[in-house]
This record gives sequence, C-alpha cells and structure tokens, in this order.
Amino acid sequence: EEEYRSKLFTIAATDSLTSLYNRRYVLNELENQYKIAKRNKRIFSLLVLDIDNFKQINDTYGHSAGDDFLKKVSFTINSTLREQDIAGRIGGEEFLILLPETDADGAYSLAERIRTEIEGSKIIHNGITIKTTISTGISHFNPKKPPGKSETLFQWADQALYHAKNSGKNRVVKYMSENQIQKQ
Ligand code: GH3
Ligand code: MG
Ligand code: MG
Repeated sequence: EEEYRSKLFTIAATDSLTSLYNRRYVLNELENQYKIAKRNKRIFSLLVLDIDNFKQINDTYGHSAGDDFLKKVSFTINSTLREQDIAGRIGGEEFLILLPETDADGAYSLAERIRTEIEGSKIIHNGITIKTTISTGISHFNPKKPPGKSETLFQWADQALYHAKNSGKNRVVKYMSENQIQKQ
C-alpha cells in the first residue's frame, strides 16, 4: 500500500523524460515557498532557465537528439543543486528552480555553475557531437518588500531571462527592480 502510494505520487509529480518535477508540482511548490517565506520573513530565490537555440538542435539533429540534450541539462541541474532545492521542467526546454534560504548572489553563483558546466560539455548523438548553452533569469523574495503574489516572482525571473536572451544568450541576469535589470 505504502509503496503503491509513493509510486502514484512519483507519476503525478514528475516529468517522465527528465525525472525532474513537472510544471504543476513546481508551480505549486513556488506558491508554498512564497507563503512560508512571507509568514516567516525568510528569503528565497528562483531561477528560470532556458536552453539556447534548442529548436536548431531539433531541426538539425532530430527530436531524439533534443531529448538527449534535455536529459543532459536536467542531470547537470540535479547534480549542482542542494538537498533543499527544487527543480522542475515547466515547458519544452524551460526549467524552474526554487532555492530556499538563498539570496540573489547565492542564486547567481549557483546559476553560473550550471551555465559554465553546460557551456563546457557536449553530448554525442549517433556519433555526432552536439553543444549548446543556456540562459537564466533570477528573481528573489525580499521579506521587506514582498510582492503581492507568487506569480510576480516568476514574472520577474522571466523578464530577467528575456534580457539574458536579448543581450546575447549564454548568460545569467538578475532582476533588480522594474527599471533596473542587472546584467553581469
Ligand atoms: P532561444 O535560444 O531563444 O531560447 O530559442 P530556442 O530555439 O531554444 O527556443 P524556441 O522556443 O524557438 O524553440 C523551442 C523548441 O523546443 C521548439 C520545440 O520543438 C522544442 N521542444 C519542446 N518540447 C520538446 C521535447 O520534449 N523534446 C524535444 N526534443 N524538443 C522539444
Ligand atoms: Mg530556448
Ligand atoms: Mg523556451
């Protein structure tokens, strides 16, 4: 019975391709983290990570090469995170990572570690070497200035990601305030 329940939970909460959490689970977890941080005046950060030029990988090498790359990125994310961090695949080649008790600088250095790891690695698909990079947007929950809802944190990280893409990709960008998104 216990084992059966745990299997059901795994099926309901995870993305079968990458074994990361699925969109529904990780967005629900964002809401939980937001409530905990607000109630207890704690900090936390989130990363929205998107693979660069992924369509081109699919178009050039095929969908299964794209899938291999998704697994590679997921493995790298998982092996970089700490026990308390939560990572999910929220779209085709897009990931949301929640970092409890982590400030924007801590989030930045973690995102940079993932970025450089992917930049320096490759996958071999049918004997062909495939490389690409990732871009990441960061936002963080400040208990002194909490946004009204958890979705806002997601929008901030997404805006930072947009800047990362527009300024050349393969980079990490922090959301600072509405009219100041810091490029590093
Ligand atoms: P950018 O650098 O701006 O992020 O461009 P991009 O090509 O990475 O992004 P775009 O949104 O244009 O393309 C994403 C592609 O991801 C298109 C879609 O075919 C592919 N995709 C979505 N889900 C999957 C999947 O599960 N497996 C594979 N192999 N491809 C997927
Ligand atoms: Mg992309
Ligand atoms: Mg995308």
